[in-house]
Amino acid sequence: MQYLSTRGGSSVSPAQAILNGICPSGGLYVPETFPQLSIAELCAERSYRKTALSVMRAYLPDTDEAKLASMISEAYGSFDSDAVAPVKRLSQNECVAELWHGPTMAFKDVALQMLPRLMRDALDQTGVSDTLFILVATSGDTGKAALSGFQDVEGTRVLVFYPHGGVSEAQRLQMVTQEGKNVDVCAVTGNFDDAQTGVKRIFASAEAKERLGAIGYRLSSANSINFGRLLPQIVYYFTSYGALVEAGSIKVGDPINFCVPTGNFGDILAGEYARRMGLPVHKLICASNRNNVLSDFFHTGVYDDRRTFYRSMSCSIDILISSNLERLLFELDGRETSRVIEKMRLLRETGRYAVSSDQRAELQKTFAAGWCDETDTLRTIRNTFDSNGYLIDPHTAVAQRVLERYRTETGDETQTVLLSTANPYKFATHVLSAFETPDPNDFVNVSRLFTMTNAPVPRGVSELLGKPERHLGLCALADMEKRVLSSVGA
Ligand SMILES: *Cc1c(COP(=O)(O)O)cnc(C)c1O
Repeated sequence: MQYLSTRGGSSVSPAQAILNGICPSGGLYVPETFPQLSIAELCAERSYRKTALSVMRAYLPDTDEAKLASMISEAYGSFDSDAVAPVKRLSQNECVAELWHGPTMAFKDVALQMLPRLMRDALDQTGVSDTLFILVATSGDTGKAALSGFQDVEGTRVLVFYPHGGVSEAQRLQMVTQEGKNVDVCAVTGNFDDAQTGVKRIFASAEAKERLGAIGYRLSSANSINFGRLLPQIVYYFTSYGALVEAGSIKVGDPINFCVPTGNFGDILAGEYARRMGLPVHKLICASNRNNVLSDFFHTGVYDDRRTFYRSMSCSIDILISSNLERLLFELDGRETSRVIEKMRLLRETGRYAVSSDQRAELQKTFAAGWCDETDTLRTIRNTFDSNGYLIDPHTAVAQRVLERYRTETGDETQTVLLSTANPYKFATHVLSAFETPDPNDFVNVSRLFTMTNAPVPRGVSELLGKPERHLGLCALADMEKRVLSSVGA
């Protein structure tokens, strides 16, 4: 198995793709083929770890199988559920897959507890002796998940940039209280897209590369453009399907839907990859908040980021430039890299590109899309709790609302798995405001929510109270590269 670039150039080994993160051409790595797995066999495994091994070894043939199994075991040992991504029934044709049982209470742990181990293995395979310097731009959850995953991992260092004022108080505290010898965190004056653009610019900077290289550092990415991030996310699409089979809700082979709160298009793309590997999928429903650039794209075939950027309570999907969409375009364009390059050029230079009407029709065979505003998000949190006794976070609520609207508009009653991407306590203040006027203090709201709902408070939240804040730096967008270099004295 080799990895191609969406923008052309020579193919590389899995280890190289994981170490590089992004291709030298600026493109993203994609697998040369989609391995075909037997759904009946996967469903019979009934174990997250076993299915994770079946899925990941198909993409990582150079990794020793026993080693891969032990990496999986370690990575998911830090989860507070043996099922890793337990599936719960909400109604007759809807289940929730809880992807937030990892140490930072967001679905990014599924990938980011695994990625450092995949990188360590890739270093061993390639004999690279440099320290990997991981730069992360985060809209909130990736930052903490990366810090937690890489903390004190030999041969790695992490620097996280987050938008100043653009993350929840719990998210900020999770990051700035991070311990570890190899971790660094800095706020940036700008939004997530600015921070992500800044990080991409540093990756493209020859000077940064040279100065870091001279002292033994090699830049890499843990953002969802890294194939090593995408890969572990394919797994829960299969295990969720298996859970429905096991519960008798469907028979092996019946197609189901997934509804996914979407930002950078990593999570839902993993679903598309699972579909290409043989998972019976009817529709992948892409849910956005007011930053509805993706939902417009799936309806009109035009991607246009020239629009107002809104800060919302579902801040992890406040995104206008959805990087992983490039991988979907690559498949849609019949793997013709020149067409992808042209679209990315148009996006960069004019803020807009369009697919043909045939391509739009092709997309709509698999993808549906919708969006949800702030008022509706709160109403959905409240309604879901009132009718099911189940508390959801604002991202999951966006998806829940989009699913409800999709059902009304299409009459599609197919069994659907809602991907729940964060624990509600991670956004306690917003969640509480669906029920009553919240206190200015996040922690007061955590206890009020608990009193009201009895939903268990995860340890990661209660621990935050009173932890010392260690990383209080703030830097201007223009100074990000300088900040990276000074972080390691280059
Ligand atoms: C990152 C994130 C998302 C969006 O996932 P993408 O892969 O960027 O589409 C949704 N919900 C939460 C809570 C997240 O942290």
